[in-house]
Amino acid sequence: MRVPLLAVLALLTPALFAQTPASSNDWATPAEQSGYRTTPDYASTMAYLHRIAAARPQQVRIEPFGKTGEGRELDIVIASKDGVFDPDKLHAAKRPILLVQNAIHAGEMDGKDSCLALLRDMVISGKDAALLDRAVFVFIPIYNADGHERRSPYNRINQNGPDEMGWRGNGSNLNLNRDYMKADAPETRAFMTMFHRWLPDFFVDDHVTDGADFQYDVTFTIEHFPTLHAETGQWLALSVIPDLEQQVNASGHLASPTYISLVDENDPSKGLGFDAFVPRFSTSYINLENRPAMLVEMHMLKDYKTRVTGNYELLRALLKVLNRDADKLIALNAAADREAEQLGAHPLSDVAYPLKLAWSGETTPFLFRGYKYTRELSAVSGAMWVQYSHEPWNVTLPMQTGAKVAASAVPPDAYIIPAQWTHAIDVLAAHQVVIHRTTAAWTAPVETYRCHDGNWQQPPFEGHHPMFRGEGGGGHPGEPPQCTLVTETMTFPANSAVIELNQRLSHVAMAWLEPMAPDSAMAWNAFDPIFEQKEYGEPYVLEKLAREMMAKDPKLKTEFEERVENDRKFAASPRARLEFFYDRSPWADPKLGLYPVGRLTKLDGLPLHQ
Ligand SMILES: [Zn+2]
Repeated sequence: MRVPLLAVLALLTPALFAQTPASSNDWATPAEQSGYRTTPDYASTMAYLHRIAAARPQQVRIEPFGKTGEGRELDIVIASKDGVFDPDKLHAAKRPILLVQNAIHAGEMDGKDSCLALLRDMVISGKDAALLDRAVFVFIPIYNADGHERRSPYNRINQNGPDEMGWRGNGSNLNLNRDYMKADAPETRAFMTMFHRWLPDFFVDDHVTDGADFQYDVTFTIEHFPTLHAETGQWLALSVIPDLEQQVNASGHLASPTYISLVDENDPSKGLGFDAFVPRFSTSYINLENRPAMLVEMHMLKDYKTRVTGNYELLRALLKVLNRDADKLIALNAAADREAEQLGAHPLSDVAYPLKLAWSGETTPFLFRGYKYTRELSAVSGAMWVQYSHEPWNVTLPMQTGAKVAASAVPPDAYIIPAQWTHAIDVLAAHQVVIHRTTAAWTAPVETYRCHDGNWQQPPFEGHHPMFRGEGGGGHPGEPPQCTLVTETMTFPANSAVIELNQRLSHVAMAWLEPMAPDSAMAWNAFDPIFEQKEYGEPYVLEKLAREMMAKDPKLKTEFEERVENDRKFAASPRARLEFFYDRSPWADPKLGLYPVGRLTKLDGLPLHQ
C-alpha cells in the first residue's frame, strides 16, 4: 500500500495540521489518498474525523452515543453551519436534520467514505458549504464497529473492492439490519436513544448491493408504508425521488430510483420483484417513527471510486432537496407525529390498520438498464447459469408494484402486558415507548387473541426460531400463527405494563404487540411458552375419560367417529385420538394459545399511577 508521507503525518498529528490552511491534498480522505483502493479502519476513520472537528470546532462536533458489544465507542458526527449542536434548538429554529447511517453492514463501506468527503467539502474546502445553509448533517460513520474491525479481503465475494473490508454481522454475528424491531443488540438499543434525542427529519441507510449485474451504479429506494402520513408519500413520490434521480444522473452517474431485486435471479427477463416492508429493516422501522427514510444500495461490481463518488452525489442531492423543502418536510413530520398520537382515539379507529403488505399481482412497466446475458445449463449446479456481458440491455420489464394488505388489526385505545412477560415489555422500553404500570391486580373482560397453527423456522434466523418465513439457509420456514379476536376475562397482576396509543410511538407499539404483525413479539418468540402444553393425561386415564364422555354425549361420540373415518392422520395417532377427549374436558388448559396481552377500548377502572 502506497500512501503519501504527508497524508500519514496528517493522520498522526491532527493538531499541527489543524492550523494549516486547507489545500485539497492536505485534506484528502484516507480512501482518496489510496486512490480508492482501501477504506480506513476504525482508528484511521475517527482520526480523520477528529482532525476535521479540531480544525472546525464551530461547525463540527463528534458525539458518542453508546458502545458496541465488544466495547467500541459509537459516534455521530454533526455538521451545523453556526455551531448550534443542540437538537432542541435546531428543531425550534426549524432546521431539518438529516441522519445518515453507514456501515451497518461493515463490508459495504461506500457511504462512510463518501460522508468523510462530503463533510470535508462542507466545512474545509467550502465547495459544498451551501448544503448546510439550513439543513444539519448528522452521520454515523461506523455503526457496526465490531464487524468493521473484522477486516479481510474475503468478506464480500460478490463485491469489487476495496482491498479489505469489514464483516456483515456484529460482534455476536447478528445482522443489525434485522434487529430494529426486536432490539437484541446493544448497538440497536444505543441507536434508539440517539435517534430519539435527535429525532431527525430524514434518515438514510447506506449499503452495497448483492444480486444481479446491471448498468446503474447508484440505486435507492424511498419506500413508505401506508401508515406514514399520506402527504409525505406524495412529496416523496412527486418531488424527492425524481429530483434525486435527475441530479445524480446529471453528475455523470446512473441512478435507479428503485432497488433492483429480480423475481428470478436465474432469469432477469421475468422482471423486478416486490419487496416486503418489515420493520426489522432500518428504513421500514423509521417509517414507524413517522419519518421518511431512504435505502441506498451502490452496485457491488462498480469500482470503489465510482461507488463512493456516486453515494456522495446522492447524499449531496438529498441535502439540496432538504434545504429547498425544509418548511414542508418539517410540517409533514409534525403532522405524522400528530396522527400517531391519535391512533387509539382516531375517528377512523374502527378501520383496519395494515400490519403486513403483500404483492397484489399488479405490475408497472419499468425501463430497466441491464446488461445482456446468456443462460446455459450448468454441470456444476445442475441449474441455469447466468453470465452477464457488459453490453447494455435496455428493456421494459414488469415491476411488481401493487400492494395488498395481508394482515391488519383495528387499533385499540391501549394494550396491557402482564408484568411477568418481561422480555416483551423490555423491548418496548428499549424503543422508549411510554409505558405506565398498574398499581394493583386488575381483572376484567378484555379483547385478546386465541392463536393456533403457527410453527417455527428451522434453522435459526438472527438467533431466534421465528414464527415467520425468514431468509437464507433453506430449511423449514416458519409460518405466522392464526389468531382470532376474542373477549376473555383476564387477570393482570400489579406492575403490568399499559401502553396507550396516544403517543408518538403508537405505530411501534402496534408492530410489536399485534401478534400477526411480521416482526411482532409473537413472531420473534417472546410468547412461545403459551403454545406449550404443560399437563397431559396418561393413556390409561384418558381411555376411561373417553368412554365416560361418549356415554354422556352421543353427539361427541359421532363427531369422534366421523373424525376417525375422515382424517387418516388423526386416525393413525393414538395420542391425537385420546387428546380429542382431553381437549374437550375440564382438564384442558384454557390458556393454551391464549395471547396474554389485552387490548383495551377504555382505561376506566384501571389501577394506574396518576
Ligand atoms: Zn447491506
